Amino acid sequence: MQKEIPYKIYLEESEMPKAWYNVRADMKNKPAPLLNPGTLQKMTLDELSGVFCRELAQQELDETTAYFDIPKEILDFYKMYRPSPLVRAYFLEKALGTPAHIYYKFEGNNTSGSHKLNSAIAQAYYAKKQGLKGVTTETGAGQWGTALSMACSYFNLDCQVYMVKVSYEQKPFRREVMRTYGAKVTPSPSMETEVGRRINAEFPGTNGSLGCAISEAVEAAVSQDGYRYVLGSVLSQVLLHQSVIGLETKAALDKYGIKADIIIGCAGGGSNLGGLMAPFAGEMLRGEADYRIIAVEPKSCPSLTRGKYAYDFCDTGKVCPLAKMYTLGSSFMPSPNHAGGLRYHGMSSVVSQLYDDGYIEATSVEQTEVFKAAQMFARIEGTLPAPESSHAIKVAIDEALKCKETGESKNIVFGLTGTGYFDMYAYAAYNDGKMGDYIPTDEDIQKSLSKLPKV
Ligand SMILES: *Cc1c(COP(=O)(O)O)cnc(C)c1O
Repeated sequence: MQKEIPYKIYLEESEMPKAWYNVRADMKNKPAPLLNPGTLQKMTLDELSGVFCRELAQQELDETTAYFDIPKEILDFYKMYRPSPLVRAYFLEKALGTPAHIYYKFEGNNTSGSHKLNSAIAQAYYAKKQGLKGVTTETGAGQWGTALSMACSYFNLDCQVYMVKVSYEQKPFRREVMRTYGAKVTPSPSMETEVGRRINAEFPGTNGSLGCAISEAVEAAVSQDGYRYVLGSVLSQVLLHQSVIGLETKAALDKYGIKADIIIGCAGGGSNLGGLMAPFAGEMLRGEADYRIIAVEPKSCPSLTRGKYAYDFCDTGKVCPLAKMYTLGSSFMPSPNHAGGLRYHGMSSVVSQLYDDGYIEATSVEQTEVFKAAQMFARIEGTLPAPESSHAIKVAIDEALKCKETGESKNIVFGLTGTGYFDMYAYAAYNDGKMGDYIPTDEDIQKSLSKLPKV
């Protein structure tokens, strides 16, 4: 007999995952290796260790170890806000009149407001363990910078954040949260780095971009003693840490004998989706079970659905290793009126390979549809979702409505990656009817793809 399913399924502390799961271990077609941008040879551990903390560089390169024990210090920190609840969206189901069962894994339950803290605390821990003075990073909308600032203050590490200039100016509250946790926040492009000065000279008055802030943060890391660069998404090490989301989700579903049918995640750089789907994709790869896994991206920045699977630069300044990924080209800039996040030009190499091999589906949605779903969700389920997360909400609703037509009672699970309290300008634009949609033309995309490196 199936137990009655509560509104919130919590695991006991003792049931929390003790190890992260590395889905690459079960992939037959491994993601393509990172390449040195100068020599086009595989990045070695020593090369990567010049930029990243050594243990993180090891995790980045390891595609055979399936499980990594989570160090006790990180587990203890996780206990402050994990396990996160898996919520049954009973109210949403009722409002939609669907026979589907909808569940969401809520990662907005910590002060940083998103899933990014799961990897931030891990990366800060390894930096501390290596005896570093501090770390540098970039942040776009600010969630990653916030999460990393919290993690660094916990371990007493210096934290230098290059924040995309337009966000620095438009999101003063995010900036002040970071400063409250002790981070130094610099608008990017700045005049403090060589690459920043170069970009400022080439594009006077530029609003900045994530790709450009990454270049500055990397330069800052390699030019200061005792500093390394850390990144909040895209990299395989980040997906590894984020697997805690999927492992908890699976454990909570298993506890109540629920088999997921559809797993949905928004996809910017691919870290939350990669984490949520990891144990499920692992079962698919080992031939043990089947799921539909859906990546949802914005129509204004559609790397999986309209990009090319190729080696590309990860940053505008072209200082980072080359990664093979679905990409729109590193010079691609989403329209400035795009307010829904998920603006990165590329996609995690793990997600890219699984998508290329047919294990994952991808779809793209317009931002006004996304905010409509966000508003509906807020009104019905109470939680004010981040615009990024609302991409997944939109597609979960669509799938639940399909079940209504067919009468199927599927189990739909989606990732609610964070809360939207710092996105009120975007909500205001939507509420005032001033939000538009922008879809790049084929020519726009071709233009940036024509600048892909020749590998
Ligand atoms: C950063 C972020 C995302 C997108 O990043 P992924 O690496 O694709 O997960 C999604 N939701 C929230 C709330 C975020 O902060």
